[in-house]
Amino acid sequence: MPPRYDLHCHSTHSDGLLSPAAVVVRAAARGVTVLALTDHDEVSGVDEARAAALDARITLVAGAELSVSWEGHTVHVVGLGIDPSCPALSAGLAAIRAGRTLRARRIADALAEAGIGGAYEGAHRFATSERLISRTHFARFLVAAGHAGDVKSVFNRFLVRGKPGYAAHVWAALGDAIGWIRDAGGQAVLAHPGRYKVGGSGMRRLLAEFRDAGGDAVEVLSPSHTPSDVAEFARYARAFGLLASVGSDYHGPGESWMDLGGMPELPPGVPPVWQHW
Ligand code: AMP
Ligand code: MN
Ligand code: MN
Ligand code: MN
Repeated sequence: MPPRYDLHCHSTHSDGLLSPAAVVVRAAARGVTVLALTDHDEVSGVDEARAAALDARITLVAGAELSVSWEGHTVHVVGLGIDPSCPALSAGLAAIRAGRTLRARRIADALAEAGIGGAYEGAHRFATSERLISRTHFARFLVAAGHAGDVKSVFNRFLVRGKPGYAAHVWAALGDAIGWIRDAGGQAVLAHPGRYKVGGSGMRRLLAEFRDAGGDAVEVLSPSHTPSDVAEFARYARAFGLLASVGSDYHGPGESWMDLGGMPELPPGVPPVWQHW
């Protein structure tokens, strides 16, 4: 059996619904043989995932998904094969998480202005880690409070630019995030590029800057991508000399477009991020 890679998913250490061990067990049951746990701005779930992977006889790749601001857009960079104890990476992630806490206050204030009170405490009731608060936790609060039917539909009506509960935020700089990942011995992957509304010339600028700052790969296969996005980002990967990655971006039962290991094969002709593993 060839290896089956899933290099992007979340646990309760960020905004996923399953513990790191439960993510690993589910991935193994679904045929994944190489799994990266990539919690948002956090590596605290890696030890538990690694122990579970040993039991499940699959390979665990230590990862994280870093929140970055680039030309006013939020961009995500996945680090793969990182040393979770790297001081530069730990400090960078702690700074991003501190920014999340400040943003959460502003999100709650914006929701209060729209007539929805108690959101700061409400979101924290849905947070599964004391260390990290995300819009997903606000979304779960808004669903529970009856403002939307499910987490996905929250993001059509709240928490995004132009809607109640939006708070602009400046995340880490692209070069800093890539630098921390490289300091930690990892590879940097531009996550779900098909989501970024930057236009063709913006995407070429982003990919060039990403590569020149030491970025290694782009996610070609992501549930955020249409079939034409997959073809387009495979072409971009070749054109910019970047490797290709694959990730389900799984968050948990009922909150994900794609289950663990649910991705098709990479299109031919793009070297995978794991080519030298
Ligand atoms: P944050 O990093 O705190 O801004 O939260 C972003 C998270 O919200 C993403 O990682 C997703 O888990 C979730 N999210 C964002 N947009 C959507 C959407 N349209 N549908 C479902 N979840 C979303
Ligand atoms: Mn998420
Ligand atoms: Mn992301
Ligand atoms: Mn993700």
